[in-house]
Amino acid sequence: MKTRDRLRIAMQKSGRLTEPALDLLKRCGLTFRQSRDKLFCFGEGEPVDLLLVRDDDIPGLIEQGVCDLGIVGRNVLDEFSLTAGIDGAPLKEWRPLGFGRCRLSVAVPQEMAYESATSLAGQRIATSYPGLLGRWLRDAGVDAQVVTLAGSVEIAPKLGTADAICDLVQSGGTLVANQLREVDVLLESEAVLAGPEALPTDERGDMIELLLKRLDGVIQVSESRLLLLQTSRSALEAVTRLLPGGPQPTLLPVAGQPDQLMLQALCAGEVSWRQLEEIKKAGAREMFVLPVEKMLA
Ligand code: ATP
Ligand code: MG
Repeated sequence: MKTRDRLRIAMQKSGRLTEPALDLLKRCGLTFRQSRDKLFCFGEGEPVDLLLVRDDDIPGLIEQGVCDLGIVGRNVLDEFSLTAGIDGAPLKEWRPLGFGRCRLSVAVPQEMAYESATSLAGQRIATSYPGLLGRWLRDAGVDAQVVTLAGSVEIAPKLGTADAICDLVQSGGTLVANQLREVDVLLESEAVLAGPEALPTDERGDMIELLLKRLDGVIQVSESRLLLLQTSRSALEAVTRLLPGGPQPTLLPVAGQPDQLMLQALCAGEVSWRQLEEIKKAGAREMFVLPVEKMLA
């Protein structure tokens, strides 16, 4: 394969993954010159360029070596590996990226009885993911007819072209609007950084390693929260026990209130309202949950 000295990343030109992917790359310190209505964006600071394409084309572009990496839904990547990509070098999910979350699910008409995959035996199931659905049916030992559709899968039962569907679900609103009921989840999906299993050995390999390190830092920070609260010394133990995972909290005295402490804790993920309420019940007050912008330990 021809070597290149600039790294090329494929991403969705226009869709659900576009803004969060650009935002993530920006937070990794990458900026691009071209306007976004073009196919190609030239990287300004680092030797990293973007190719903006339809998300379905991303795995193929990586497999052909046109791009070194791609940002794409796990659903698209796995479907490619199961169908189109069987002859080429296998693609690897290098990092989950934490956005574009959805699931690939089986849904049936509200009134249809469903107990398990065997309820689908002999039925027609419409999907844009014949590879993933076919594997799931095979694993369950169920013989059903897979009807492959490019889009508008959710209306197939109403049109009478299928008895059930297998499609992406996020909130479930589309299913409800079409009188469908989600009954089984085949795949939990999110956007991932995809690439060949064997990374290039030239300068691009070094650039990928640098990018992966920055990504890890950015993802860790975006999932971190700083929790600030006040507690009495007597409630400290109970409060500390309820803190979500993370390094040891920092304790500071409160001026003029020797019985009170200010507690500062870095939490590894979201802090929910329920967790806050429980910590409050244990004796904390004046609680703040703040996003972390940058971190250098
Ligand atoms: P393209 O024109 O690039 O082919 P598309 O219509 O196939 O666009 P989008 O609808 O923008 O793609 O979805 C892109 C990805 O976003 C999906 O492959 C999936 O990984 C993720 N996603 C998250 N939530 C949903 C959802 N509710 N429906 C569909 N995709 C979702
Ligand atoms: Mg698509």
